[in-house]
Amino acid sequence: MKAAILAYHSQNVAGDETKNNDHVALAADLEVLHAAGCQFVSLNALVNTLFGELSASESPLVCLTFDDGCDYDVRSLDFPGHGKQAGLLQIMESFVERHGSAAQPGLHATSFVIASSEARRLIDSKSLFGSGHMSDDWWSKADAHPLMSIGNHGWDHNHPDLEEEHYTRGGFDMISGFTHCHHQVVQAAEFIENKTGRKPTFFAYPFGESSEYIRNEYFPLHHDEHHCLAAIGTDPGLVTAQSDRWNLPRFVCGRDWSTPAELLAALGI
Ligand SMILES: [Zn+2]
Repeated sequence: MKAAILAYHSQNVAGDETKNNDHVALAADLEVLHAAGCQFVSLNALVNTLFGELSASESPLVCLTFDDGCDYDVRSLDFPGHGKQAGLLQIMESFVERHGSAAQPGLHATSFVIASSEARRLIDSKSLFGSGHMSDDWWSKADAHPLMSIGNHGWDHNHPDLEEEHYTRGGFDMISGFTHCHHQVVQAAEFIENKTGRKPTFFAYPFGESSEYIRNEYFPLHHDEHHCLAAIGTDPGLVTAQSDRWNLPRFVCGRDWSTPAELLAALGI
């Protein structure tokens, strides 16, 4: 069985081609993967197929994820300098309208959001346009949408835009030890649950980085505290039953492929 998790960033807009615009890339990739016989599945279905009760599929399975939770994930908005961009969710909805809901009944994306409002405000003002496009007023609706779930991308991404706090900013591999992990994973999950009514069950490591402690001890040994089913990194590669459940590989749009043909090649299709 072939299976892959793909990552898109809705704030990656630097032109109007698949190589420099993740919205254009997603629209093209959906069509090409569908035509190539891939089956879109949710992260939940994928993890249950790999490690659980669902049976393996003949078709290559593809799972969509969006990182950082910018409003461009779910809203069609003007992107300064590049005009209006269809939201990633709207691109998925257009695909369903074109092909019918039976064509890809498992089509689904997990949007990994940053919990802390203050962290989102600082990242929005320093790394985006300060237009308030990292809001959380859409999380509840998105989590209830049949095409989307909200996942956990940490309390504050330990983003370099933030003030120094408990540890050096920038990078996520220094998040090590129970206290730091609890802060980044559980405090974030509780905040997200407060907004959506549901505890997120998947964690995506900020920057794709993880310490040995979080991978080998915190996640595997403290399920009662974090309730996660899997954690996702960004090491490129297909996922298999032998993959590390607490650092699942993922292909990143723009880094690992810049055209649909390159994506098919990466998936070995
Ligand atoms: Zn991120």
